[in-house]
Amino acid sequence: MNSDLTANITLVCTSSVLNLYLCIYVFVKRFNYTKIANLFILYTAFTSVYCIASAFGLLSTNLEQIQFWTIVQYIGMPFSPPLGLLFIMQYLGMKITKKGCVALLLIPFISLILVATNNFHHLYYRVFEIDPALGAPYVHLELGIWYMIQGVFTFASMFVAFLLVLSRWKETARAYRLQLIALMCGQLVPIITAFIYLIGVTPPGIDPVPMVLWLSSLLYLWSISSSRMFTIMPVAKDVIFNSINDGVIVLDESNRLIEFNQACQSMFPKLHKSMFGMDFAKVWLELSGNAFPFDLKKTAFNQELQLRAANHSENTYQVRMSPLQHVNTNKGLLIIFTDITDLKRLQVQLEYQAFYDELTQIYNRRAFFQKCNQEFTELKNTSLAFSVILMDIDYFKRVNDTYGHFVGDQLLQHVVNMCRAQLNKGELFARYGGEEFVLALKGYTVLEAEVLANQIRSHVETNPLITNGGIISVTLSLGVAEATKEKEETLYQLLNKADKALYSAKQEGRNQVYVYTAERNV
Ligand code: GH3
Ligand code: MG
Ligand code: MG
Repeated sequence: MNSDLTANITLVCTSSVLNLYLCIYVFVKRFNYTKIANLFILYTAFTSVYCIASAFGLLSTNLEQIQFWTIVQYIGMPFSPPLGLLFIMQYLGMKITKKGCVALLLIPFISLILVATNNFHHLYYRVFEIDPALGAPYVHLELGIWYMIQGVFTFASMFVAFLLVLSRWKETARAYRLQLIALMCGQLVPIITAFIYLIGVTPPGIDPVPMVLWLSSLLYLWSISSSRMFTIMPVAKDVIFNSINDGVIVLDESNRLIEFNQACQSMFPKLHKSMFGMDFAKVWLELSGNAFPFDLKKTAFNQELQLRAANHSENTYQVRMSPLQHVNTNKGLLIIFTDITDLKRLQVQLEYQAFYDELTQIYNRRAFFQKCNQEFTELKNTSLAFSVILMDIDYFKRVNDTYGHFVGDQLLQHVVNMCRAQLNKGELFARYGGEEFVLALKGYTVLEAEVLANQIRSHVETNPLITNGGIISVTLSLGVAEATKEKEETLYQLLNKADKALYSAKQEGRNQVYVYTAERNV
């Protein structure tokens, strides 16, 4: 055996051993990877068959042995490039249909049959004999029609795979471009070797491709193990598609952006594929102009986030973060944005309706008691004074009877506006009943409250409501009472005192302010 042949056999054996090793390695570790691993296992398995049979072919000493090992080679060789193509397609997230798989594997299958039965039809090799000059294992070949078809198919599969990887160059972040280069080189190595063989640079009679396939497989494996995309993307994509209305961002374990969905892009128009591989803190800064307000280390997270959109509208998002787990190990993070702007607006509206009077837009009775009770109890423990004023529109029923309910409503609004004009911001002003209102005055003694009550009374009296139907003058009766510092006095008792004072004001002729005194009102 000459030294060239020995070197060739050594290289083919290296490819065989390496491919077999990679096949077994990924098979054992397949649970750490995604379903892409299955295609890689198939690819390396078929390539191993090709290389091992090629090695035995090189050790053959007669035509029968060479023919036998050629058939075995064809169990692997024709299937290897399309499987490589399928693997690349799945890696790039392309859809693979069953029909497509069958179509891709049809030509290799026919090739295998034709090689195995070549002696009967010579469609694959017109001539297949031991090289008369060099002897076994070198062969003299004259190529048949199907050999050409298989050859074109093999080149096309590898070349398409190469182009597919190349097409992703622009949208792949720098951090992952080395993996892309490795994949492209993995495709280029056999293409170039086969091409060199075809133009007759390598020794004739021996297929040099198996000698270099170990390099392709090594490059593939490096891509697999160093690229987080490989293991995360299919897991993440499922989630993305399942919650397509929510904006989904996928980060790798180093918090680098690796994917986002369309909904997310509409939420954050600045989000772009060129940001892939970028640290998420930086990405968020570009998207919102602010630092991301939540801790990415927190798992099972659910918070609300207000963001100003490009059109200056304030949007509210519910932000959920959950770790991306695969076989109990943390592979990254999912950040899910749900636009709850409308829901939030409705919530605010409902809260408003629950606390505000629809007609006058001041607090309603429920809101008054809730807020006043709180203030009242807090003040009980201080030396600050606390007074209330109850007011009632005089002869209001007459307004309704004379001008109608609609004008009555207008008058209620007018009176409220007149009262508000006399108030600072600190007073608690609410609609107590139909045409009755209440004022809670923190820090007011009864005398100060009486002054304010008179200001309000006089302001309402001197500012009639001007309507199309005429000028409507109304007056108010007001009852004032101050809280004692006795612990047992409740807000209801205080309001009851004010009510008694109001009753006195009505009794004494209306348009009056009366202050509650124990002597008069018992
Ligand atoms: P007084 O001086 O004794 O207070 O006489 P009054 O007519 O103001 O008192 P009364 O309690 O007899 O009448 C209050 C009226 O207020 C009766 C009711 O129809 C009217 N009213 C209550 N709520 C509303 C409202 O929201 N809109 C209108 N237009 N009228 C209302
Ligand atoms: Mg009244
Ligand atoms: Mg009344």
